[in-house]
This record gives sequence, C-alpha cells and structure tokens, in this order.
Amino acid sequence: MSSNSLRGDKEAGALSRILSALRPPVAMAFSYQAEDAAALHLLLRAGALAPEGGAGPEVFTLDTRRLFPETGAYHREAELFFNVTIHRYYPDPEEEKALEAELGEWGMRESLEKRRRCCEVRKVRPLGKILAGKSAWVTGLRAAQSVTRSDLKLLEYDEKFGLIKINPLADWSDEDLAAYIGRHRIPLNPLYARGFKSIGCAPCTRAVREGEDTRSGRWWWELPDHKECGLHSRR
Ligand code: SF4
Repeated sequence: MSSNSLRGDKEAGALSRILSALRPPVAMAFSYQAEDAAALHLLLRAGALAPEGGAGPEVFTLDTRRLFPETGAYHREAELFFNVTIHRYYPDPEEEKALEAELGEWGMRESLEKRRRCCEVRKVRPLGKILAGKSAWVTGLRAAQSVTRSDLKLLEYDEKFGLIKINPLADWSDEDLAAYIGRHRIPLNPLYARGFKSIGCAPCTRAVREGEDTRSGRWWWELPDHKECGLHSRR
C-alpha cells in the first residue's frame, strides 16, 4: 500500500471536528480545480453538508463571466456527481460595465495593476459579499501549488475577509491529489485532459508542458510571486 493511499481519512476526520466546533454559516469555495473537487469530496465525507434545504456549508463559485465553456459544462457535472447545488456569484453589473469601458477585452494583460483591477471587480469584491457574516470558509488550496502558498496551514485566520480559513489539502502533494481523485473516481474539468494544470479565466489561463509548475499556466506573463488574484492574500 503506497504512503498516499490513505490520504483523505485523516483530513475528513479533522474537517468534521473543526466544523462541529464552528458556529454556522460556513462556506465552501468551488473554483473548478481538481483540488476543489477533492476538498468538496472530503467535506461530504466529513458529514458536514446537510441535505438539500438544510443548513450545511454553502458551496459557491465565483463566475467572473470570463470562464472557459468547458468549465460551464463541468459545473453541472460536478453538481450531479456531488449531489449539491453550487451557487454562482457574479460581478456587480455596474462595476463590470465600468471595468470593460476601462480595460476592453484584453486590457488585463497590459500591466499588473490592470490585471489586479480586473480580479478585484470580478473576484475579490463578489467574494467579500459572499463571506460577509460567515464564520469560516473551506478552500482547496495546497502549499505545493506555488511559491505564494508555500507556508499554507490547515487552519488560518483570513485577515482580509475577517474569518477562519480551512485548507484541508494544505500539505498534499501532486501525487496525493491524483491518487485521491483516482481512488474516488471524481470527475474533473475537461480542460485537464487538454494539458491545463490549473483552472482559471479564459484570457489568463493556458495549458502547460509536462514538468512545468502547477500554476505556470496562470498569468504566464507575470513573475511567479505575483500570481495571485487577491482572493488568497497572505502575509
Ligand atoms: S483571472 Fe483574468 S479575466 Fe479573470 S478576473 Fe483576473 S484578470 Fe480578469
């Protein structure tokens, strides 16, 4: 039996204990990554999600309106597989209109400042609204994903949004994740089969070559330590 074959048992138990110690409401971010699918699977195993209409953690996604069509199709496939509703949240229409007038379709590639402005309107502000009033949120982040996440912990205090952040996959390797996905036959975004290693917005994400870093296809024109959209700002 390989060392990663039992990955998930410990994390599901830890998640169950953490969530039972928290006051609701708790939210779970689903951004169509393999990591999110594994984290949601763990959450369900932990018995943390109440049946439809119950008071379990709300599973949500940030629909930036710049996602790949494949991601749109995967949304429904994931809902059916996990038997949960994944609630979509969109940018504020007025802010989006102003952003498009300012940047056009591709202006986010012109500078780090413009790219961060787009992420702010399409991701960060909607997330702030979702997390308002929540006691904690669950993510699929892993320390091994990038230099910006290398000191990630299972439990953190999210200073930006003012609540607890739970990262059940914090110390998982690429092999741990692949083994867990395979063992539980969890469906993935079809973009993975086309060489993507991380899933994001269409203008800012591309397929990568074998051996390249997990997040090297995100904002590929930027330096590695700039590759965050502002949702996971960390000291
Ligand atoms: S990832 Fe790209 S398209 Fe998506 S919100 Fe950020 S800058 Fe805009």
